[in-house]
Amino acid sequence: MGRFDTTPEATADVGQPTPTLSEGPYFKPGSPEESSLVENGSGAQRLLIAGRVLTTGGQAISGAKLDFWQADENGVYDNGGCRYRGHQFSQQDGTYRLETVLPRVYTGRTRHIHVKVSANGMRELTTQLYFPGEPGNAGDRIFNERLLLTNLQQSGNTLEGSFDFVLAPG
Ligand code: FE
Repeated sequence: MGRFDTTPEATADVGQPTPTLSEGPYFKPGSPEESSLVENGSGAQRLLIAGRVLTTGGQAISGAKLDFWQADENGVYDNGGCRYRGHQFSQQDGTYRLETVLPRVYTGRTRHIHVKVSANGMRELTTQLYFPGEPGNAGDRIFNERLLLTNLQQSGNTLEGSFDFVLAPG
């Protein structure tokens, strides 16, 4: 049993919505519904991010749409297709689980993953998740420590981290 077999503890700063961050140039609408973005046969470092979608009052939000996009293991976004782009919906208990690979750092930024989170009656959140311990964090001009993955650790061949999204009322 891994530690994501049970409902993760709330780690978000519940009470305050998750900070927004710029969308950047590489968002594309129409990503596939897919919670695993890992390509067959990929030798890249596996990354698992899990957590919940919550209201500022700490209530779980089910059916929230989480749309992730990121650079691949070579630091490249797929702007023609849908590699490392995918959306999923939070479960009844607000949980989500993204299986992907560690994005390579690309010039001008520290390591990050983009996401949009939306739910009925809530303000759409566009933000980016950061990795603790990255040398580039301090020099990233839009870095926000409240957007760091928590509990990041290597488990077998997978790097596992947590993040809870807190949505503001719409
Ligand atoms: Fe980016």
